[in-house]
Amino acid sequence: MTYLTIPISAKDLAQARRQIARAVDGGAEMLELRTDYLTGLMVERVRELLAAVRAAAAGASVPVIVTCRDKAEGGAKDYRETLRMEVLAAAVAAGADFIDCEYANFRRADNERRIRTALSASSKARLILSAHDFSGPFPDARRLCQDIRKACPEAVPKLVYKANHINDCFEAFDLLHGAGGDCIVLCMGEAGLISRILAKKLGGLVTFASIDAQAATAPGQVTAEQLKGLYRHDRIDEKTELFGVIADPVAHSLSPAIHNACFGEQGMNKLYLPLLVQGGQREFDSFMDNVLARGWLDFRGFSVTIPHKRSALDYVRAKGGYVEPLAEKIGAANTIIANSDGTLAAYNTDYAGALDAVTAGMGIGRADFEAMPVAVVGAGGVSRAIVAGLTDAGAKVRIYNRTVEKAERLAAEFECEFAPLDDLRNLDAKLVINCTSIGMHPKVEATPVPKQSLKADMAVFDTVYNPAETLLLKHAAAKHAKTIDGISMFVNQAMAQFRLFTGTDGSAKLMRQVVLGFLISHR
Ligand code: NAP
Repeated sequence: MTYLTIPISAKDLAQARRQIARAVDGGAEMLELRTDYLTGLMVERVRELLAAVRAAAAGASVPVIVTCRDKAEGGAKDYRETLRMEVLAAAVAAGADFIDCEYANFRRADNERRIRTALSASSKARLILSAHDFSGPFPDARRLCQDIRKACPEAVPKLVYKANHINDCFEAFDLLHGAGGDCIVLCMGEAGLISRILAKKLGGLVTFASIDAQAATAPGQVTAEQLKGLYRHDRIDEKTELFGVIADPVAHSLSPAIHNACFGEQGMNKLYLPLLVQGGQREFDSFMDNVLARGWLDFRGFSVTIPHKRSALDYVRAKGGYVEPLAEKIGAANTIIANSDGTLAAYNTDYAGALDAVTAGMGIGRADFEAMPVAVVGAGGVSRAIVAGLTDAGAKVRIYNRTVEKAERLAAEFECEFAPLDDLRNLDAKLVINCTSIGMHPKVEATPVPKQSLKADMAVFDTVYNPAETLLLKHAAAKHAKTIDGISMFVNQAMAQFRLFTGTDGSAKLMRQVVLGFLISHR
């Protein structure tokens, strides 16, 4: 069992009672009483805190860890070492299930004696021996874990360190995977987030989550609500298959929410993670190598976005995997499938997502793109995928861009026309597609195409999806043109990925609901 543990970081008993009640209501499977947060800490407080937990749990069993963290290892206040040890001893006497003592302090003979004496009088309390590094990985985490086990074989080793890169998490995974007994290994910081989510799959004794973002007691801690809702904590087990979006930044990505919602709806034992991979090709390759070298992690597929789409393509090609021809032509892959036989495949669902959004919005088939005059505004990554798809389908594309040279280069590659943005005043097209960020939140009063250029016989597609109805789409609707919003493209490309990931269809309706819900809650 991996206990979802919520730390209680109150400054007094009244605040602790409120936090405990919220934590129990919020689904805490274990509580950590961080007594070092109390002001005027006294040994007697420990008994009162444990009584407060029993009262809030109302008969249910909510195990408790009592911690009085040394300031040198992240403690909130600088309490004397003798007081901290007395607090831990009192916690054992008061019925705590676990006490957490820093391994560095336990190694001092008088501390060890005090802790062992307290534990010998209890039939249930267990010792957690912890080590923390807030700057980065330990020089030798495996050795440290062995040392802790040697010093006290019945203790639970707890190693917590900052991941400076997602690749630092793999050492934590290896330790948990080969632990052969209760163990806690977690990585702090945004790059360490997945270690908190995956602790349950890998059999860690606990993972920590805060009641809310303000109450986090370590950098990168998620809230219990996120862990249980978004990251499906209650459904994870050692067989859970993993997926994720590789990006930098990744925190804003809606992909975990939509894919996990669909996994949940279909009762699938799958989990989709945000994978913050910082750096370029080297770091990307190293991340993929790390993942693929550990088949037991059960990673099956990846969405890939800025800035790694090119790296994804090159990685799969270098590994001799299958690369979808149009992804090759676009020069970017946004999806990698890791097959169970160890082979890889790379796809680009961006262009298909966009084209499907247009065909559905215009009520046409792909064949109807043949000879259709299309104005594509923008010459970046999204434009490139859409231009590749459209020219492949036979459309007559003209690319408009602020930096005309970029439009010229793209046009030369896909044998189409180009023009400066000013030429949008004399627009002559059946389909207009905005592939720039113009009109995106918060600058919602901007539009890339003058209103007077839009006509009723046009279809206008804005790839911007925040807001769903951009000023460009408002103008197009006012002119009675057909409008297609960016959410349709986003959902379509995610639907195509879901199909590649699972072999079945996700729910476009649910995906759209999740995206709209997010946009409304972040307005
Ligand atoms: P990108 O590679 O950075 O390209 C940005 C494009 O926008 C370039 O053509 C750039 O022109 C132009 N641009 C940016 N700011 C401008 C301004 N103030 N005035 C004129 N032109 C401007 O970005 P991308 O990856 O292609 O993404 C473009 C947009 O697509 C995003 O902003 C997003 O809204 C949308 N998108 C939608 C989806 C979806 O699923 N619906 C998915 C991804 C992205 P220069 O070349 O002159 O710099």
